[in-house]
Amino acid sequence: MKANTALCFLLLGLALYLQEDENRSRSRIARPLIILALLIASVTLIEIAFSLDLGIDQLLFSDTPDSIATSAPGRMSAPTAVAFVLTGLVMLFHTIEDRARQLIILLAIGIALSAFVSYPLNLVFGSSLFSVTGMALHTSTLFLILCSALLIERPASGWLQILFSVSPLGDNTRSLLATAILAPFLLGWLIFYGESVGWYEAGLARSTYSVAVMLLLAIVVIYNAQRLYEAESTQKLLQTDLRAVQVQLQAFLEFSPSALFVKDVSGRYQLVNSQFEKLVDKSSQEIVGAVAQNLFKGPVLDAVLGSDQTVIETKNIVLTEVTLPFGGEQRTYLNTNFPLLDPQGAVEYIGGIWTDITEQKALNDALNLKNVELERSNKELEQFAYVASHDLQEPLRMVSSYMQLLEGRYREKLDQDAKEFIDYAVDGANRMQRLIQDLLSFSRVGTRGKPPQPIDSSIALQEALQNLKMAIDESNAEVKADDLPIVMADKNQLVQVFQNLIANALKFRGEKSPQILVSVKESNGFAGFAVKDNGIGIDPKHSDRIFVIFQRLNPREQYEGTGIGLSVCKKIVERHGGRIWLESKPGKGSTFYFTFPLAREEQVPSEHVVEKSDKINQESIQERAERLI
Ligand code: ADP
Repeated sequence: MKANTALCFLLLGLALYLQEDENRSRSRIARPLIILALLIASVTLIEIAFSLDLGIDQLLFSDTPDSIATSAPGRMSAPTAVAFVLTGLVMLFHTIEDRARQLIILLAIGIALSAFVSYPLNLVFGSSLFSVTGMALHTSTLFLILCSALLIERPASGWLQILFSVSPLGDNTRSLLATAILAPFLLGWLIFYGESVGWYEAGLARSTYSVAVMLLLAIVVIYNAQRLYEAESTQKLLQTDLRAVQVQLQAFLEFSPSALFVKDVSGRYQLVNSQFEKLVDKSSQEIVGAVAQNLFKGPVLDAVLGSDQTVIETKNIVLTEVTLPFGGEQRTYLNTNFPLLDPQGAVEYIGGIWTDITEQKALNDALNLKNVELERSNKELEQFAYVASHDLQEPLRMVSSYMQLLEGRYREKLDQDAKEFIDYAVDGANRMQRLIQDLLSFSRVGTRGKPPQPIDSSIALQEALQNLKMAIDESNAEVKADDLPIVMADKNQLVQVFQNLIANALKFRGEKSPQILVSVKESNGFAGFAVKDNGIGIDPKHSDRIFVIFQRLNPREQYEGTGIGLSVCKKIVERHGGRIWLESKPGKGSTFYFTFPLAREEQVPSEHVVEKSDKINQESIQERAERLI
């Protein structure tokens, strides 16, 4: 390798390295280096063309007389100088169009490759066309490396894009290129080697080479055609699938009652259905490619742009409600905007569904209004029941006490009929009083109820049993109870529920003395209580009716009552977010179930915890089991 050649490689190599440097002052040094290399190569070309000696060839080192002859001692060969000019130009002018750039580099590769290939052929033949070029083997190698570096520098441009692409087309191009370069060379080398060592005549070698290259190219063409055919078949299949999907999608789009669209991230509509066309009163040709500003205005436009922005920023579904004129009236739409992501997870398109909710909204509004109205009238009714029952008590008390006075004072003067009438009147007044009291307690559930707080339901049960002590003793009843949990309740109301249910169990007893069991099961944050009796039972067909106010199943002469107790229980339980129901068979006793929310651990005051653990200590497992059985 001549000294100037080595120098030019150093200059270009260094320039290539410096060009990539982030530091601008360093990368700026690259240009003079390239210009210097270009200058050396160009001057050499002038020297060769005009047989001059401008004295640059042996500036650094003087050539020994026995070195490979180029046109003058120490001078680089013409192909080397041309290759330097080509690579230097490519490096100097960045703005050269990609394909032109690649063509120039290919030209340089061609020159270097010719020299490179000539060496093995020279080895075989002693001399060849290429040996007169005078380019050293390491020079051509370095050119190949330099050119490859220049190509790889911009892999995603021009035809290199295909060569480097990770796709079947890329694979194909790479293997074809490798075959086209290597196969004729190796084949040629092998055949001509055979000729040189005397295996066969020169003529035979040439015709064998021609036939072999023909065959090889034919194989490559057929192989490639085969692959192309396969690719085409696959593509056809995919096209058929795609068409089917398109038809299906089109059907969905067109039959959808909602207006649908897809737009790109810059806001240009890509796809709309006929509902959307009707909505904006434009044809799809007018809409596709247009932006929201061309279709909407005012607050609707603001809502559309705002939700697009939010979808892009958050990659979430965004719901907005817009009202716009359609078919001569204002209609409300629920606009569901959602992102369509590319494989890298970036928003590629925005999809949207506009659903007409005008009727639904009107219904909802009407329902809400009715609810408010209902709530108000319920309150009013409750208030009315309370005031009426409260105020009725006084005159009633007067009627019954004067009746009793009448009976006491004029007993002697009245006949049997009059006495009987007075008894009826007193009895009626008493019943009315009970009714009024029950009504009062019913209306008090809502008006006087206290906010729920942690209550030990065992204590509430004990209180209810205490209130019913006389009735329990009289009926000779046996009441058993589980260890009950702490629930969130208004204590008085929980007592009232236990009391009403146990009072009913005592009242509606059968032949046998009453046996009542209160048990509990905890699940999903609720305590499910069960009050089981062995009374007369209830036909399941009445299991809803008995919770309605004033509904009774038995005649008053047989069982006293007002028909309010269970409706009070239902009102209390539901006020606490629970539910009450019944399982029963006539003659087989009844079980009333009701639920109350359990107190969460952090809501339970510490004294409850102590109380609970004491209870557990007092009662052994054995005792508990016996009690429950
Ligand atoms: P009341 O007890 O004043 O009649 P309730 O609302 O408490 O009113 O009960 C409604 C009806 O449900 C009762 O009249 C009775 O027919 C039936 N019932 C309630 N509890 C029981 C029970 N433990 N056993 C049988 N029937 C019952």
